[in-house]
This record gives sequence, structure tokens and C-alpha cells, in this order.
Amino acid sequence: MAVLATKHEKLPLVGPPLADAVGLRVEAVEVDTDALGTFTGDIPRHGSPLDTAVAKARLGMSAAGLRLGLASEGSIGPDPATPLAVADREIVVLVDDDSGIVIWESHSSWDVVAAATNVSPGDDLGPFLFEARFPDHQLIVRPSTGALHPIYKGISSIGQLTAAVAECAAVATDNLALVETDLRAHACPSRRAVIAAAAERLADRIAARCPSCGAPGWGRIDILLGVPCARCGTEVARPRAEIDGCPACVHRDTRPVVSPEERADPGACPRCNP
Ligand SMILES: [Zn+2]
Ligand SMILES: [Zn+2]
Repeated sequence: MAVLATKHEKLPLVGPPLADAVGLRVEAVEVDTDALGTFTGDIPRHGSPLDTAVAKARLGMSAAGLRLGLASEGSIGPDPATPLAVADREIVVLVDDDSGIVIWESHSSWDVVAAATNVSPGDDLGPFLFEARFPDHQLIVRPSTGALHPIYKGISSIGQLTAAVAECAAVATDNLALVETDLRAHACPSRRAVIAAAAERLADRIAARCPSCGAPGWGRIDILLGVPCARCGTEVARPRAEIDGCPACVHRDTRPVVSPEERADPGACPRCNP
């Protein structure tokens, strides 16, 4: 039995894949994971998303008195590779204090809804609400500038939205209200799909056993870059091999992802095309 630390109704996303793949029974415990940081930034986050996920799992484990815990953590923001697209990367982690191992997987998507706009009371919000896929996706409203409060989360009706916009615009120094997607998992179905996909990957990973010691969690831990340029032989930063590893022992296995004869396009070479 494992405990899933969640304040935002993630059990239906994480429980079934783990039950199907490895027969793990998962129950949820409600802990205040917001203490580890929130999307809206009213509580800042510290550490990497993986650290935060592990810390959440441990909160749940101590609350439930179990030695096997699960948690998820999302990072939503501009994608460094394509700055105009919003990427959602979800990590799901299993912490096993009996074996002393941590197994995690992630999934990324560019299909998450993350809309935001500044509005005045009385503005036509129709096009924005369509883009924001409201009310399936809930909204947050707060003053655009100046005051940090009030902040209304989980807005799912036009009546709530109109009242919140009026109240927040009235206290903003520019008289505008900021309306944006509520990215908490229970309020954002497009994010839930990404968490579910990450949980599927975690389940597959737990089912994969180390060929040396038999521990669960065998899978990719690193990527080796460096394919020689076709013209000059300089290494171009393209994946050459993946390294599989075990969370419990030092066993590693390198799997080439391109043939030894593979050469890189000189157009991508730092020496031929700096
Ligand atoms: Zn091993
Ligand atoms: Zn070159």
C-alpha cells in the first residue's frame, strides 16, 4: 500500500496505472502541499521540481504512517526551445523507504491551457473565455497591479467571474483585473491529462526490473550527446546513446540510439557553422 499526497484530487490519475502495472494499492491523504509552493506564486517554491515532489511524498508518508509514498509536481511556463508555447512538465515520484529508493518519471505536453488577460469590468470576455476553455478550466482573478489581494481561485461561473473582476479592478492601481487559468490539478483538465500520462510512465518504470539486482525502476537515467560532424569530425550536441540505470545499485547499461557510422549535418556543427 502506498499513500499519495494530494490536495487536488489526483488519486484517479495516479492510482489506476499503478494498480494495473504492478498491483500497487494507492490511497490518498490530504496534506497541505501548497506549503511547498504554489502556481500563483503567493507561496514561493524552493528546490527542483523533483525535490518538491519527493518532499510532498514524504509529507503524505508521515501523515499516513506509511513507508511507501507517491506525489506529483508540475512545472508550467514558457518552453525554452519554443518561447511562445507554454509547456507543462509533470513529475510523478515513488518514494520507498523500506528499500531506500526513489523512482520517478515525467511527461511533457504543449497542449496545456494557460491563458491570461487584463480586463476592465464590463469588457466582453467571450473570446478569452473560449481560449481559456472556461468553465471546464477554472480561473483565478486578482488585481492587475498594486494590491496583492483579494485573490479568487477556482472560479467556474460567470456570476463569480463578474463579481471577482469588479472587486479586483476596484483595488488595482490601473483599475484592471488579471484573469488567468487556475493551474491547480483539480481545476485544469488539460493538466490532469499530463499527470495521468506521467503516472503511466512511472507505472511502466516500476514494472521494469534491474537486470543485475532485480529492484524496480530500471530505465533511462541519462543521455550521451556527441555525434561527429560529417565534414570536420567535431562533436555536435545530438543524442548518441542513452544510459539505463537502477535506483538501487550501480548497474548501468549504455544503449546507442544512432549507428556508429552516423554523422551530423555540418549546418549544426559549432566549428563549420559557428
Ligand atoms: Zn540494480
Ligand atoms: Zn564541422
